[in-house]
Amino acid sequence: MRKDLNMSDMPQTEVEWRAKLNPEQYQVLRQAGTERAFTGKYYNTKTPGSYMCAGCGTELFSSETKYESGSGWPSFYEALDPAKIEEVQDRSHGMVRTEVRCATCGGHLGHLFDDGPQPTGLRYCINSAALELQEK
Ligand code: FE
Repeated sequence: MRKDLNMSDMPQTEVEWRAKLNPEQYQVLRQAGTERAFTGKYYNTKTPGSYMCAGCGTELFSSETKYESGSGWPSFYEALDPAKIEEVQDRSHGMVRTEVRCATCGGHLGHLFDDGPQPTGLRYCINSAALELQEK
């Protein structure tokens, strides 16, 4: 457990999560929802900074690896620390995809695809509602 996070603030129940998060954040992070493309607050953001998990504050992505994928969701070709991201096979909606979750709070972030740019070839396709930008 990371010492820079106050884990005593971490909700323990869905009731507590619902109280902590706004409805959009709750639907994405706790119910694995997907915001509609081109509607989230960060899909077009180029501001330098760090993207934190909107559920628990863990630093997940840097603006330096954010790129314009054209998908309508914030896209990153690399995670700051892969250990902070959990990958789970997702067979919903008739597809086999890799779901990505925050390893700290278990919140659903989005999906990981292998059609990203070099140097990694990865595309972390993340819901804006799961992120909070801390500007540099
Ligand atoms: Fe989290």
